[in-house]
Amino acid sequence: MSVIVQKFGGTSVASPEKIRRAAERAVAARRDGYDVVMVVSARGQKTDELVELASAITATPRPREMDMLLATGEQESVALMAMAVHELGEDAISLTGAQIGVLTDESHTRARIVSISTDRMKELLGQGHILIAAGFQGVDSRMNITTLGRGGSDTTATALAAVLDAELCEIYTDVEGVFTSDPRMVATARKVERISYDEMLELASLGAGVMHSRSIEFAKKYSVPLRVRPSFSDAAGSLIAAETAECSSMVTGVAAVRGEALIRVAGAADQPGVMSDLFTALSGARIPVDMVVQNVAREGAANISFTVAEGDLSAALKVVRAAAERLGADEVISRTGLSKVSVVGEGMKTHSGVASRLFAILAENGISVEVVTTSEIRISVLIAQDQCDRAANVIHDGFGLNLTSDSSTGDSGTQAAPASGSELTIEQVAEIVAGLESMESILVSDIGVDLSQSRLTLTGIPDRPGVAAQIFSALAEQEILVDLIVQNVPQQGLANVSCTIPRDLLEAARSVIPGLQESLGKMNNAPVQLTTSDDNICKLTISGIGLRSHTDVCRRVFESLATAGVNVSMVGTSEVKISITIDEAEADRAVNVLRTEFGLADNDEC
Ligand code: ADP
Ligand code: ASP
Ligand code: MG
Repeated sequence: MSVIVQKFGGTSVASPEKIRRAAERAVAARRDGYDVVMVVSARGQKTDELVELASAITATPRPREMDMLLATGEQESVALMAMAVHELGEDAISLTGAQIGVLTDESHTRARIVSISTDRMKELLGQGHILIAAGFQGVDSRMNITTLGRGGSDTTATALAAVLDAELCEIYTDVEGVFTSDPRMVATARKVERISYDEMLELASLGAGVMHSRSIEFAKKYSVPLRVRPSFSDAAGSLIAAETAECSSMVTGVAAVRGEALIRVAGAADQPGVMSDLFTALSGARIPVDMVVQNVAREGAANISFTVAEGDLSAALKVVRAAAERLGADEVISRTGLSKVSVVGEGMKTHSGVASRLFAILAENGISVEVVTTSEIRISVLIAQDQCDRAANVIHDGFGLNLTSDSSTGDSGTQAAPASGSELTIEQVAEIVAGLESMESILVSDIGVDLSQSRLTLTGIPDRPGVAAQIFSALAEQEILVDLIVQNVPQQGLANVSCTIPRDLLEAARSVIPGLQESLGKMNNAPVQLTTSDDNICKLTISGIGLRSHTDVCRRVFESLATAGVNVSMVGTSEVKISITIDEAEADRAVNVLRTEFGLADNDEC
């Protein structure tokens, strides 16, 4: 019999009436012939209330006790849900994380799943029970209760769907589905019909709170189709599945994260090992970093910038200052009060002009950009926090996301299996599972080498809104598809921007430089210092899933390259890719060390 997993978020089980309605959905699926597993969150604001309660007792609760406390919210919900199903005349049994067999590591309040044993669940399903699993919780190897991080019930749901090889995982929530942006932030946001795993992974990790980003890692890794649906109606919601040709709209969504802090290490030596040292130290302290930017070095000194969550800033600074001293760097500076706003879309792989449009929209609205990072399917900009909402709105509407038509709302609630672009066979899934150290271990799936790229670097650019727009519009006019864009933190009012462009378009790109120099020079009231381009580079792309949330991947990339003596000139990171540029002559060596580091054989495709 096919398994269906139905997850109900906090608002969807907030009252007895809502619990009854959720139970009715599960019973309907059971009577349609499915084996049903429900995953349930704590009711309403319960988890927030428990956090507040703890803070009324102590400012520094021990993480183990926090987990013990927070897990009670879900335990209450599952028992009530089982009672509601019983009332409807079906067998149901509620289970805690420990009883399902969700084994996690020991990192309290942000634990990762190591394994899930399916024996008991399969036995109970075989006996005709609806299983009601507590989301968000597990146990470590010493039976301490752990939790998976806020919003973690989504991850429990997709993980159970993965191990039970479910036909579908439905996420019932308080919105119609996945929107082009958070409808609470952007009033004109619209529901999308279908979104790819990579797009959703980027969006979720860039602030779209509708899904826990690690749940999308699971869904992608095990090809679990996810449907995000409203619990208050029978509408079909949005499908998150493998990419298809229809998924390729230029921009699919806009997301924002507040509370970012920027750290810049200036004047580090431009030699192998610098990035490795820094990221090994940060990874050792378990501090997730984002928006890592290393721009092309000038006069032998590299500037490295990255962001961390404001809450991690003081811990990060301690680690970074010590590393900077070892590396002989000139200074470490930090800033808070920043937000990251990102646009995401599979279509960026093939459409030029997304960057220029983004920068033009920001410039027209007088919004300055501190740092830029890109991947193939997203561009993120770091801006002042008080501009965040306005930026998200003008970007959203500027890309016409408010206008996208969507015919799917009001669809019936049938549970037809969605067409997933690349479904895996059971054997393939088993093989992937066997190849993983643990369920949530890093999966670097490919190391890509692109020798067709060259680099364009513009230095001494005035740091003003509108400048990046001018540069990227000029390139877009020549239909030049820019890829890895890196803008480092401006120094003394001057910024550096680098990007990779196809090598055969380098001449075309060079041809726009004199015009740009002139117009930017006017704007600056002084000549723009210098422009350079360089065609002897190789772009390496380390792809996988959850790269940003696994603090160790950056470290391993930089450490292995440093050991092999390979110098890195540009870096850009995203949730699904780390892109770096190196000297073309070092391409083979770099690929070999990275393949060895991540256990990829030459023809390994998984
Ligand atoms: P649940 O309790 O069901 O897990 P969450 O509060 O975690 O619900 O997630 C749903 C919320 O996510 C919505 O109310 C919405 O404000 C927010 N959200 C953020 N970004 C998006 C987006 N791109 N699409 C839909 N909802 C979003
Ligand atoms: N109850 C937990 C939270 O509020 C987990 C979840 O709802 O997904 O974060
Ligand atoms: Mg949630």
